Amino acid sequence: APGTPKPPLTLYLAAPRGFCAGVDRAIKIVEMALEKWGAPVYVRHEIVHNKFVVDGLRDKGAVFVEELDECPPDRPVIFSAHGVPKAVPAEAARREMVYVDATCPLVSKVHIEAERHSEEGLQIVMIGHAGHPETIGTMGQLPEGEVLLVETEADVATLEVRDPGQLAFVTQTTLSVDDTAGIVAALKARFPAIVGPHKEDICYATTNRQESVKAMAGKIDAMLVVGAPNSSNSRRLVEVASRNGCGYAQLVQRATDIDWRALEGIRSIGITAGASAPEVLVNEVIDALKARYDVTEELVETAKENVEFKVPRVLRQPA
Ligand code: SF4
Repeated sequence: APGTPKPPLTLYLAAPRGFCAGVDRAIKIVEMALEKWGAPVYVRHEIVHNKFVVDGLRDKGAVFVEELDECPPDRPVIFSAHGVPKAVPAEAARREMVYVDATCPLVSKVHIEAERHSEEGLQIVMIGHAGHPETIGTMGQLPEGEVLLVETEADVATLEVRDPGQLAFVTQTTLSVDDTAGIVAALKARFPAIVGPHKEDICYATTNRQESVKAMAGKIDAMLVVGAPNSSNSRRLVEVASRNGCGYAQLVQRATDIDWRALEGIRSIGITAGASAPEVLVNEVIDALKARYDVTEELVETAKENVEFKVPRVLRQPA
């Protein structure tokens, strides 16, 4: 009501948050492809898991499809940041299409790892989420049956492998650091000869965003994670907050998703954003809080990021 003072609220802002280098590059690829070839440019799968980003690119002339056979052969097609099974670029080449691969270089690195281990005769165990495009893409680097998926420690116990002495593991890049450590430990306990990366393949952006949430989770009454429901790394941030002492954590796509009832009586709140969530949506959420509370902001910065990836050469050359 007018005249009533706003209640005080301490807002802890996580850093790093939001866009990672792979997402930034993928969006640039679509924008540069539209400039180079004009609209429409086709994109197989949401370029990054964020409706706001996808809608913005659609307005500029991008057409989003789920499968290659929905694209006309005479228009360029872009593969999303999550990566694609080998069969997809192979089919695009067979159809003589122009294609640009926006797979994050840190996902491509995992693809190469899996292939190298397989060439050495090892069967691959992938730690990941069934049905996520990145998991489908990484598993699709090798023939069916060469990559076994595990999602939990319990899956490790029932895993049937070809030869326990000939195994390697890889992971999805956006997993929970803590859960994955448990799964890796279970794999090593059951298959002592298994080879893998130093720790896992979780990327710097995922690790840093989880660290920052961990650093604030114990001192906040609630946490809002700006991100999409199909964004793996965003969902992990909600879990990290809940498991590390924050009583209420919610994933919101934008300010209109905020459940004000659930926030009643809070004195402090944390804000972060998944790797595919644009900063403009973070600001929208902060502004909505400022409209209801007398906000004091505090930055919780646990790392500095300066990673940047180049776009593919074809887009750096004139048309
Ligand atoms: Fe690449 Fe990590 Fe971003 Fe995924 S979350 S696009 S692996 S930097």
